[in-house]
Amino acid sequence: ATPTALLVGTGRGAQLGVVIKGPEVLESTRRVDTIVLDKTGTVTAGRMTLVDAVPAGAGATDRAELLRLAGALEHASEHPLAQAIAVAAEAEIGALPGVESFRSTAGIGVSGVVDGHAVVVGREAVLDDWALTLPADLADAKAAAERAGRTAVVVAWDGAVRGILVIADEIKPTSPQAIAQLRELGLDPVLLTGDNAAVAHSVAAEVGIERVTAEVLPHEKVAVVKALQSEGRVVAMVGDGVNDAAALAQADLGIAMGTGTDAAIEASDITLVRGDLRGAADAIRLSRATLGTIR
Ligand code: ADP
Ligand code: MG
Repeated sequence: ATPTALLVGTGRGAQLGVVIKGPEVLESTRRVDTIVLDKTGTVTAGRMTLVDAVPAGAGATDRAELLRLAGALEHASEHPLAQAIAVAAEAEIGALPGVESFRSTAGIGVSGVVDGHAVVVGREAVLDDWALTLPADLADAKAAAERAGRTAVVVAWDGAVRGILVIADEIKPTSPQAIAQLRELGLDPVLLTGDNAAVAHSVAAEVGIERVTAEVLPHEKVAVVKALQSEGRVVAMVGDGVNDAAALAQADLGIAMGTGTDAAIEASDITLVRGDLRGAADAIRLSRATLGTIR
């Protein structure tokens, strides 16, 4: 392969909103057979909105108090879910109280003290610390939300479950077409997420992906890529988050959403400037064509 021909390939990539770090990247791009896709912010828009707040015990918890304490806690978190909760709480309640002893556990949730109450918000697993379980009515509401592809987080304070909050994200309109294009190129798509399995399967079905790995902790994403590689697969990974960076670096080809975090972009070989997943198919098609002409 002559360097000049490869550079032409990368130049054409730039026209498509695909920035390739160096000509050597095209070689690994050509051999990729499996593409792992992060869900939130990659397949979905990552623009989350709070769509429901369900207080525990049919009114035993006040809805405004649920939003106030959860919103105050999430105000201190940068997670897209957290921002959706904080924004909605502020809109409904006004100024939110401050948080003391704030703690964030990546891929799990947050905890802290708000107005003298010890509050936790996150995955259902956050209840384990207090040996709590989700009451049946909230478990039903959570399951229904997840079947609809929405994320539900649980809220507890002072040793009792107080409610669930339901957050909706939209699938990017271009995602189904992008998945179809990747398949046409012979790639096997895999959806990877820290979110609940029911949510992940709902999103996967909507965009045409069959293989799903859900409820993965941030540090486990890299292990999923390694496991696929040890099956002999050549793996591309597409992601946008800080928690995707290690997996993007481990993949044979790392592809970052230009709309995502700097950590993801730095760990990747290719950046899709507009955050359009179809750019991944463009990059692979382009590298095959470029290397085809110089062979
Ligand atoms: P993804 O892989 O989809 O980007 P994450 O790994 O960031 O998801 O988070 C996985 C799950 O952990 C979320 O679906 C949510 O249940 C929980 N979680 C993480 N951070 C928070 C937070 N700040 N507030 C509430 N829940 C959270
Ligand atoms: Mg993401």
